Formats: sequence, C-alpha cells, structure tokens
Amino acid sequence: MTEEYTFACPACEAEIAVNGEMRDAIVANGCPVCAVPVGPESFS
Ligand SMILES: [Zn+2]
Repeated sequence: MTEEYTFACPACEAEIAVNGEMRDAIVANGCPVCAVPVGPESFS
C-alpha cells in the first residue's frame, strides 16, 4: 500500500500518512483522532 498524502489535522495537529482511499474516508468522516470535519486542504 502506498501512502500518497500526509493528513495534518487543523484541530488536534495529528499528522497521519494516508493513501487515496483513506484520504477520501477522512474527508467524509472527519479526523480519525478528534473527529473534527476536515477538507481536502488538510492534506499535502
Ligand atoms: Zn484531529
């Protein structure tokens, strides 16, 4: 599995390496750590 993006939560400052599928899930469901809603801008 390739980790294509780095998620950086604007609320809890968690940083998580994710692939495209996980990125889509986080955009849909929010931060996996604190559940704050996040958008595509929180990924690099
Ligand atoms: Zn968070």
